Amino acid sequence: MAIALAVAVSVSAFDEVRQLPASTSAGGWTIRGAQIADGTGAPLRSADVRFVGDTITEIGVVAPRPDDRVIDGTGLVLAPGAIDAHNHSTEGLDADPDAVTQVSQGITTLVVGQDGSAPFPLRDYLAKRRASPSTVNVAVMVGHATLRRQVMGDDFRRPSTPAETSRLEALVDQEMRSGAFGLSSGLEYEVGSYASTEEVVSMARVAAKHGGIYISHIRDEADKSLDAIREAIAVGEKAKLPVQITHLKLGTVGVWGKAAAVISMIDAARKRGVDVTADVYPYLAWSSNLKVLVPDKQWTNPVSVKEALDDVGGGRNVQITRLPMFPQYVGKRLDEIAKLEGLSEVDMYIKIVQDDDAGVIGHTMIAEDMQAFMRQPWAMVASDGGITTSHPRGAGTFPRVLGRFVRDEKWLSLADAIKKMTSMPAARLTLKDRGTIAVGMKADLMLFDPATIIDRSTFDEPRLRALGMHRVFVNGRPVWTNDAPAGERPGVLLTRP
Ligand SMILES: [Zn+2]
Repeated sequence: MAIALAVAVSVSAFDEVRQLPASTSAGGWTIRGAQIADGTGAPLRSADVRFVGDTITEIGVVAPRPDDRVIDGTGLVLAPGAIDAHNHSTEGLDADPDAVTQVSQGITTLVVGQDGSAPFPLRDYLAKRRASPSTVNVAVMVGHATLRRQVMGDDFRRPSTPAETSRLEALVDQEMRSGAFGLSSGLEYEVGSYASTEEVVSMARVAAKHGGIYISHIRDEADKSLDAIREAIAVGEKAKLPVQITHLKLGTVGVWGKAAAVISMIDAARKRGVDVTADVYPYLAWSSNLKVLVPDKQWTNPVSVKEALDDVGGGRNVQITRLPMFPQYVGKRLDEIAKLEGLSEVDMYIKIVQDDDAGVIGHTMIAEDMQAFMRQPWAMVASDGGITTSHPRGAGTFPRVLGRFVRDEKWLSLADAIKKMTSMPAARLTLKDRGTIAVGMKADLMLFDPATIIDRSTFDEPRLRALGMHRVFVNGRPVWTNDAPAGERPGVLLTRP
């Protein structure tokens, strides 16, 4: 067996591996002749990269040692693995520890606990994850809404009292001490939406004390987007911590085309010293629950519902993804369902909104805004997806940016796009040993073909995995090889130092 493996196994012209006998496989890996996008935004250059154990040891013209495994990277790009600053695989890792839809995109680190909803207590979640390793590294945030439920129970439809706020602060402290990277909020969602700005500031101050960040799904992604961005900036300014506006978008007809106003608001805040960044996913549709559509929460009031549907350009832009009470409607758009049932779009919405588990996709953004946001030096790429996400971003985000928006549409240079996927999120989390290719950094790496990399996931088939990712390494060990899981699960839990 060992002898048979000692001969070169040619998989494709661009992907040749010399595999050595098991007895000597403790050696390193050398990837030769790839174009290196090192994560800093520097122009690509041709170099060999060698890593031993979990660490990059040499870059340049590298002579592989006799017991190295050697990969021919000619024609391919070698980049740091993507660090997904907004990921929803908190539970998905149990169902698929290989995280196939994630590593096939080149993701090597997931940041979970987003939108105010996080595992609690973090200590238990970390212990559980450590006991069942996965292919990817995992970092976790503290969830604002999760802590509200802990402190306020079902009585959360109001701002917290001073005593409750103190309790919330104590829990942020506890979770930060367990290794969380900061506070996440989802102020557009039911539980988080009743919080005052001051409540959030109080909790963010505790995260700040531990060197954490504040990442927010802001209070409104529709007509009141600008107010909501102003609030997120104010949290950073008052609590003195870095702020990330997550999945930045303009999601209603009323704010379409206002990217320039948002950009100047963020630029002005940065100029006066507030550390504001954003992340963007490369899709013109969002997915959430059905209730999010109606911002004043008057879900059964025809006037409110009519207004909400007008705001998103009508029922044709609202696609049902999950509806346990009426499964026959899954995949269909609201206008279509209304027609089938002989109801108005408004009455149809009111009929199905009683299903608490209803999930929808709103096809409600425009390309000009997304492009303007994505090109900002303070904007990075994050998926807002995950292993079980019923939106194509869950399986397609990073290859979609590399294939469609770098190669095909030339919105960004490849070096820039890689920076937005790697060193920028690493800096946000203050991860000092990931996010760039340099000697001494962890060997979290992706090797892909820039000519073929592409997402395939669609709204109908959201989990169809991307193509063009040749190899992915996490902590120096292979997790994705020639379009399949490599069988190892070297991911570690990252905690704040
Ligand atoms: Zn969100």
